Amino acid sequence: MIKIFEKWLQALGKLEYVTGKEKPKVDCILCAIRDDDKRVKSLKVYQDDLNFVVLNLYPYNVGHAMVCTTRHVAKYIDLTKEELIHTSRTIQGLQLLLDEIYSPRGYNIGINQGNYAGASINHIHWHVVPRFPSELGYIDITAETRVVVEGLDSVKKKIEEKINDFLNKEFFEKF
Ligand SMILES: [Zn+2]
Repeated sequence: MIKIFEKWLQALGKLEYVTGKEKPKVDCILCAIRDDDKRVKSLKVYQDDLNFVVLNLYPYNVGHAMVCTTRHVAKYIDLTKEELIHTSRTIQGLQLLLDEIYSPRGYNIGINQGNYAGASINHIHWHVVPRFPSELGYIDITAETRVVVEGLDSVKKKIEEKINDFLNKEFFEKF
């Protein structure tokens, strides 16, 4: 987990983003995405009363998404029982969807809470990172730059087309 997020922090453009050069002038980027604030580039693919799902602007891998609580919550311990259960189910639905589209061989799923833990956004969110065999290519190794082979617009389109087949009322009630 730690290893992959170290790499993720080296994603192209990420440093400028977190240090403020290109950071949108909003109190919370995830609240702004939730509210469809036009100042923020949004890769949101799903939203309901308790969660929304957004693709990572600086993905470690194809399909790297974040499951966020709809309510602005900074700490894991402040989540309600309903939010915890619903979030777990949202992560499951997202995995089923990613399994169908990309057939990853594994996942890293996790949260970073607080600046000292590597969180750049003070609004709790779960990274869901699909993992594949033979991920490291020539440029990854020589330039320490992650090469994600599919563009974000294409990934977003594929996920948006199918997400309601997975994250729907029936799915959440079945749990
Ligand atoms: Zn927020």
